[in-house]
Amino acid sequence: MSMTPTDHPGAPRTEAELRRQLAACYRVFAMLGWTELIYNHISVRVPGPQLHFLINPFGLHYTEVRASNLVKIDLDGRVVDGSGSRVNPAGFVLHSTLHRGLPDAHCVMHTHTTAGCAVACSRAGLSMDNFYSAQLHGRVAYHDFEGITVHAEEGPRVLRSIGDRQAVILRNHGLLSWAPTIPLAFATLWTLNRACEIQVAGAALGPTLPIPEAVQRQASADALQFSPAHGAGTDVFDALERLAANIDPSYRD
Ligand SMILES: [Zn+2]
Repeated sequence: MSMTPTDHPGAPRTEAELRRQLAACYRVFAMLGWTELIYNHISVRVPGPQLHFLINPFGLHYTEVRASNLVKIDLDGRVVDGSGSRVNPAGFVLHSTLHRGLPDAHCVMHTHTTAGCAVACSRAGLSMDNFYSAQLHGRVAYHDFEGITVHAEEGPRVLRSIGDRQAVILRNHGLLSWAPTIPLAFATLWTLNRACEIQVAGAALGPTLPIPEAVQRQASADALQFSPAHGAGTDVFDALERLAANIDPSYRD
């Protein structure tokens, strides 16, 4: 049975806390260069019985996102609470597909980083031969490209592609992760993106040294960053939030 958004380690208890954590996440993405002009989204389910989500208002750069200007929407992308803000409903379809179809996908994040897109476009996909990808054994799914906008009818195919995996390489497109919490989705996406960066940087150096599958399996089991017993990404996320706050604390407003 799925747990409610507040049952997970690191999950904020109130909407106000969640707004602040999500706004921090947008600023962390900006700090890492994981932005695409005014596009892309990080969405998260609001605590409570209703299927409502917070998302960035359309038209703002991630550095302009604040706790107070996040927009609350329903599963169909309709604004529930956002004081006249616009959202990009087409951009939310991919997110809503996961929120609707995966019981613990309370947070969904999606990027078009250059390294992530490069690997997504490569025929071979993610090489499992580096320190970071080796921690993602059995955690990465692939979904074939069907066009720049995900339409509702593609949803069942997206869910079939994902199965029970927490990270998705959207072929010819970009990266996506989901989790019960923002910190855990971030830990997964950061690891995947880092793996892609190393793969791209190493591509000019010729063939990689293989990592045997048994070692990948062990590395994935040993990866503390995903473990609930070790905070499920919260320590890392909180440290990066402090860094973002030092740059500009206005996200808290
Ligand atoms: Zn995209």
